[in-house]
Amino acid sequence: MSALLEVEGLTKHFPVRRGLLRRVVGTVQAVTDVSFTVNAGETLAIVGESGCGKSTTGRALLRLIEPTSGTMRLDGTDLMTLSRADLRQMRKRMQIIFQDPYGSLNPRMTVREVLSEPLLLHGVATQANLQAKVAEVLGLCGLSSFHAERYPHEFSGGQRQRVGIARALATRPRLIVCDEPVSALDVSVQAQIVNLLQDIQKQLGVAYVFISHDLAVVRHIATRVAVMYLGRMVEEAPSAELFAAPLHPYTRSLIAAAPRPDPSAGRVHASVEGDLPSAMNPPTGCAFHPRCPLAVDRCRAERPELRTIGDTRVACHLAEPATMRAQTRPLDAN
Ligand code: SF4
Ligand code: MG
Repeated sequence: MSALLEVEGLTKHFPVRRGLLRRVVGTVQAVTDVSFTVNAGETLAIVGESGCGKSTTGRALLRLIEPTSGTMRLDGTDLMTLSRADLRQMRKRMQIIFQDPYGSLNPRMTVREVLSEPLLLHGVATQANLQAKVAEVLGLCGLSSFHAERYPHEFSGGQRQRVGIARALATRPRLIVCDEPVSALDVSVQAQIVNLLQDIQKQLGVAYVFISHDLAVVRHIATRVAVMYLGRMVEEAPSAELFAAPLHPYTRSLIAAAPRPDPSAGRVHASVEGDLPSAMNPPTGCAFHPRCPLAVDRCRAERPELRTIGDTRVACHLAEPATMRAQTRPLDAN
């Protein structure tokens, strides 16, 4: 069985222009050679520090940003060669929700109008059953017809995100790209929205590409996790394995730096040691080598390709199966 979404070699490099003549002075390598699949009804999380290319990847999937190269297929349809008109049609099957739905909700439209637009545009509803369809999608998102006549500014952040989800769901897509959908919300509201997304997935079988820097949320929601560093995927594994036995040193430091939920202390944000290098001038060899505690000469000279170890894909010269690591380095504090 082939995957719902197949992405191969996705690359997005932006030219950087400076000065009066807008001369190209460099290239931001935002996303380079990223490949992954998403199966129907599952959640692939994409994680990494800000600037690692995860949002660019998410937007490129919908061609909100035009990829430089690569191939992308949804249900076998080649997304790269679709015309603008066909892309609009494709939005019926593939949607996106953003961190701040407020920015993307027209303040002069009621929730009913916000939802009616995609329902009618994609032929999911007719004027005759529009009211019932609006009520149905509101119900899926824990809202009622009572909310339909209200404007976005009348809602709390959590409710607004529910409206954002309702709008994405209106056309019953197969896949939704969720770009940091809860990071602007209070922690208590985050859990409600994450649970809502899970309930919807169980009911409708929709797949998510879930972009987040919050590993606690990712651990809760993801089927598989892809870790990005400076525009490249460095590790991808089933969620349980990635958190139990991360193979890439960067994944290990991300997990070590993740805040532990401690109600008395609030959430303390630690971070991975060292600064993220510029995506305009990535380090030679393994881009993580300036920050990697295990780096050896080879790491500075040669870029590690993704290798398959068990169910994990990992790009590190020194990665070895977790069981082997435990045997050969019993004193390793990691
Ligand atoms: Fe560290 Fe080398 Fe592995 Fe890169 S290839 S993560 S520098 S050990
Ligand atoms: Mg982002």
